[in-house]
Amino acid sequence: MASSLLTLTTNISYLGDMTQLNQFLSVIKSEFPEDRLTYQKAVPTFHPETAEDAARLFQLANRHKQPIFITGFGNNIDPQGKPFTEMVSVRTDRLNKLIEIAPEDFYVTTGSGYPLKEINVHLEDEKLWLPHSSLPYVGSVGGAIAAGLSASFDNHDFPLRKYFIKATVVTPEGEIIEPGSVCFKSVSGYEIVKIFSGSWGLLGFIVSASFRVMPLSAETEYDRMLQKPLEREALLKALDETNDAVDAVYSRKIKARFDPARVLPVV
Ligand SMILES: Cc1cc2nc3c(=O)[nH]c(=O)nc-3n(C[C@H](O)[C@H](O)[C@H](O)COP(=O)(O)OP(=O)(O)OC[C@H]3O[C@@H](n4cnc5c(N)ncnc54)[C@H](O)[C@@H]3O)c2cc1C
Repeated sequence: MASSLLTLTTNISYLGDMTQLNQFLSVIKSEFPEDRLTYQKAVPTFHPETAEDAARLFQLANRHKQPIFITGFGNNIDPQGKPFTEMVSVRTDRLNKLIEIAPEDFYVTTGSGYPLKEINVHLEDEKLWLPHSSLPYVGSVGGAIAAGLSASFDNHDFPLRKYFIKATVVTPEGEIIEPGSVCFKSVSGYEIVKIFSGSWGLLGFIVSASFRVMPLSAETEYDRMLQKPLEREALLKALDETNDAVDAVYSRKIKARFDPARVLPVV
């Protein structure tokens, strides 16, 4: 009896969730061209083509309290797994352009869905080079930044964030911001753009990113560079409410400030 009551309650709550999700999907259909929404392994997936598309989606998600999961090339969607049953995925596959190479100013800008490994193919024509584009990371620019891609080089930590200088980001509340600068020596003090490195899709949606690049002749100096495994545990520990280490408390404050409606939950 107790178990059938439990099943009934679970089913009712599941239907309630689905109703909310279905309502949100109808809002998407009424606000955007039809092709923005697809189903990837049964998970409703939104494909923004501009920062404005993404901003509008996040504004609507706040209004409708709809949880969202950001994805690049990642294939970690499990339609049977509970975490994705009530969620909409936002995928960067249409933000896949190489936007600008500025040889005079030593930077490159790409959409967040651009493959990190492709950058050096195009920089080479300008005799330029981005170290982390030579790593065996088969992912997108946005994913590499958000996952905190790093290498080791002569026993030193050598993160991609060192070269990550500017971005266009849609905040979880749906505001478009452009932290950072392509100028050499733009700020003294903490650069807010770096906060998105290692943010694992929890602080906002990276639309495009700029990286400082170096002359191609430097490439041989970095041939001992080795990709490090990605590490999500540190962030999860920091977000654990029982962790009262100063860094952890600070991380939770940043998360609460950026995402008060919690539209980007940990999944
Ligand atoms: C826990 C874990 C560990 C992994 N370790 C490795 C590893 O050590 N080496 C390796 O080569 N591959 C690793 N992978 C596989 C890697 O995820 C795949 O190579 C994948 O295809 C990379 O795609 P992506 O870079 O587009 O990032 P995704 O896998 O799509 O996303 C990675 C993270 O970044 C966030 N994200 C993605 N795009 C954006 C964006 N535009 N704005 C904000 N956040 C964004 C996502 O929410 C997610 O949290 C790992 C995967 C996982 C889940």
